Amino acid sequence: EAKRRPHGHYQVFEPQMAEEVNRLLQLESDIRAAYQEHHFTFYLQPLIDLHARVLVGAEALIRWEHPTRGLVQPGAFIGFLENSDMINPVGLQLLDDVCQFIRRQKELGRFPAELRVAVNISERQLYDADFVGKCLSVLHKYKLPGSCLEFEITEGAALHNIDEVVDKMRKLQNEGITFALDDFGTGYSSLSYLKRLPVNKIKIDKSFIDDITIDPQDAAMVASIIAIASNMNLLIVAEGVETDAQAQWLSQYEGILIQGYLFDRPLQAQAFAQNYLPESPTF
Ligand code: C2E
Ligand code: MG
Ligand code: MG
Ligand code: MG
Repeated sequence: EAKRRPHGHYQVFEPQMAEEVNRLLQLESDIRAAYQEHHFTFYLQPLIDLHARVLVGAEALIRWEHPTRGLVQPGAFIGFLENSDMINPVGLQLLDDVCQFIRRQKELGRFPAELRVAVNISERQLYDADFVGKCLSVLHKYKLPGSCLEFEITEGAALHNIDEVVDKMRKLQNEGITFALDDFGTGYSSLSYLKRLPVNKIKIDKSFIDDITIDPQDAAMVASIIAIASNMNLLIVAEGVETDAQAQWLSQYEGILIQGYLFDRPLQAQAFAQNYLPESPTF
């Protein structure tokens, strides 16, 4: 006990800690500026019906168009952003941008009524007291039905007050917005959330899909997840499908939707519209 040097610990790490603190403070002010200057944008990755080979939707994925660093992927900032209050204004700005895009495509006759754009919604957004009102006023602003949107949530997003989250989900579902449970299987209690959250779809996490063709245990788990979801009448997305072999394996099941580099990467919204939205929708 006498040998303990309670302050030594801090002295050793101080320079690194100061550096980290500075880095985070810088990130925080960069994010604030990026929001004000509207440097956040979204890419769209197509969601495909594996059997029919048709587009059924797209996921909007945030990107940071940094004036000096170029295009910054969410991995570099989303964790920090989701843990800060800025996720609320940034998330709302992104939802507004997505709805503006949909409205524009509708006016061009290029947005089929069956199509949905999925937007990732994080915990702090769900716990915003006026989350439902804010979403509905964006829809109203662009004169859009909720049926053009899907919200992706993770089980972590409902950790603190599941009743409040369920209540908000139902209100938004009444307006036509559907819900997907994202990164399914990676949390601590996926089945318990599946039981309690009124989701329409599950997205099987890429980490389960990666080895389905080589690891029998992974294949067994994905088969079981598909069985559960089918029995619950939920739509099923396989995330991160990169190879023909994976698609082949998944095609033994009916009604699987796939999202992954095999089909296409996330694209700039304009490129997505050009490649995927027909001038006069036939579907
Ligand atoms: P997510 O919601 O699970 O999105 C899927 C991620 O997998 C995307 O990464 C996508 O680009 C990537 N992906 C899709 N197919 C493949 C594939 O075949 N191979 C590989 N290696 N990756 C693939 P991204 O765009 O970097 O986004 C990462 C995460 O950041 C998202 O994971 C989501 O959790 C979060 N995120 C993205 N946009 C938003 C947003 O607007 N709001 C919030 N709160 N989170 C977001
Ligand atoms: Mg997602
Ligand atoms: Mg995911
Ligand atoms: Mg995620």
